[in-house]
Amino acid sequence: MSGRLPSIIFKEHELAAFWNSPLLDSRLKFIIYALAGFTIEEFGKAVTITSIYRKGDASIHGYWRAIDIRSFIYEEEEIISIIKFLNGGIIYGKEPFKTALYHNVGQGPHIHIQVSHNTYTVVQKV
Ligand SMILES: [Zn+2]
Repeated sequence: MSGRLPSIIFKEHELAAFWNSPLLDSRLKFIIYALAGFTIEEFGKAVTITSIYRKGDASIHGYWRAIDIRSFIYEEEEIISIIKFLNGGIIYGKEPFKTALYHNVGQGPHIHIQVSHNTYTVVQKV
């Protein structure tokens, strides 16, 4: 143990198994790693994962291509920064949808992060 605080926290134990599943779109893991570095460095706060795969769910969570994170631990401005950080660099690839959104669809407000088959980052050609 390094003595550092964890930068990624799972709300429930079963989420760790989903996180480690080969079915989870690996791009989401890279996105969460980057986001956790950002939130720890900028706000001194971790990323808490509250939902990954939802069995039988018709939404993108049913296809292992979305992760929800807790939002109430962040200030309003911090949430805006998180959304900008993610959508600024990672293009979802299906208009008008975005990689990250802050919304409330019944289970309380949270940040939803998703990837499509067309999600990309602009890389300079060499
Ligand atoms: Zn979601």
